[in-house]
Amino acid sequence: MRSFQGGVHPPYNKITQDRPIERVKPPDRLVIPLVQHTGALCKPLVEKGQEVERGQKIGKAEAFISAPVHTPISGVVKEIASHPHPVVGEAMAVVVEGGEEESEDWPRGELDPEYISPKEIRSRVREAGIVGLGGAAFPTAVKLSPPEDKPIDTVILNGCECEPYLTADHRIMLERPEDCILGLILVLRAVGAERGIIGVEANKPDAIEALRKAADGKVEVVPLKVKYPQGAEKMLIKALLDREVPSGGLPMDVGVVVQNVGTAVAITEAVRDGKPLIERVVTVTGEVRRPGNYLVPIGTPFSWVLEAAGGLSESASRVVMGGPMMGIAQRTLDVPVVKGTSGILALAEDIPPEEGTCIRCARCVDHCPMGLMPTLFVKLAKGERWDLLRDAHIMDCIECGSCAFVCPARISIVHYAKLGKLRVRLLR
Ligand code: SF4
Ligand code: SF4
Repeated sequence: MRSFQGGVHPPYNKITQDRPIERVKPPDRLVIPLVQHTGALCKPLVEKGQEVERGQKIGKAEAFISAPVHTPISGVVKEIASHPHPVVGEAMAVVVEGGEEESEDWPRGELDPEYISPKEIRSRVREAGIVGLGGAAFPTAVKLSPPEDKPIDTVILNGCECEPYLTADHRIMLERPEDCILGLILVLRAVGAERGIIGVEANKPDAIEALRKAADGKVEVVPLKVKYPQGAEKMLIKALLDREVPSGGLPMDVGVVVQNVGTAVAITEAVRDGKPLIERVVTVTGEVRRPGNYLVPIGTPFSWVLEAAGGLSESASRVVMGGPMMGIAQRTLDVPVVKGTSGILALAEDIPPEEGTCIRCARCVDHCPMGLMPTLFVKLAKGERWDLLRDAHIMDCIECGSCAFVCPARISIVHYAKLGKLRVRLLR
């Protein structure tokens, strides 16, 4: 079966894979950050005291690499102020307090993908504030606008969901396969590509079957070996097309655009239904009483979502946004769900092991999917040799954590890699 070099096999713990997506009722008060994406902060379009309607744009994206934000509920703007943020710590947000309970379903529109122009698809996707829902939150309209000298021949939908615990994408593929396929067809049309492929790890045979049935031969659905980080863009391209994205390059450099399956559904909703990105599926799992997959309005506090999942178990001691390999530990449960929140994972207490000395076993090197030298990153970061770290291609590190997972000395290699990348950026 197709795959890539390196990688690891962490325990997958997909305890919520059989739990259908359940809608979470919005709280009275939502905190909607003006930055939920890679790129520039949005400019507020509303002011304190103003009434807003569900789906109304409340933050405008002025830069090319940015995405507007919308309110998931009708109500009144209570304030625009700095609030805790699950990714950047603190950020400006619009606080909306709701009135009456909302109707749940956004009205469905009609669309024949043959009769919509690529420009119109890009415009609707941008206006709807769609970003990559796999976690990176890169504005989707930018990915759909490759420069003319980078022709795209293939679009890949990422249905791997290789991160342990997370099952939101799995449920989306099972419950919304037609919308996944339509989203892929719209992306193919937007970038002028012919070939569409959905890569799914082979441990989701039900999703593969549902997608194949919905695709009806129009696009390929390819099972991939179960291995972490199979869902990383560069690994996916290598496994499916045997193409190597060059160091410092992007998928478009090898004629490819990659989108997550959840993003494909959001694209369908934006283009067909005119629905902005106001809610997303979040796996709430680990040490909670009712783990599951929940459809959550953007801006809902983690504390509210955890309550909807039955509350934290007594054994829970920390909460992470995302999965255990690449997730971000949270210092407060007041942070809101943002567009990039694929999971809320509660973990039991574990005593962090003492960091040992590198024994030069080279396990980290053998398992790095990017073919890098993680052990060297640790040495150079400790010695503050940022120039040498740049030459060692640290910017190619995708922070997947495979190196730290196999390190017998329990060295926090990703911490050193992140620090190194930050310092190398400052050298520029
Ligand atoms: S060095 Fe970076 S890319 Fe390589 S295994 Fe470690 S975290 Fe992953
Ligand atoms: S896996 Fe850990 S101990 Fe082995 S070489 Fe890499 S950093 Fe050193």
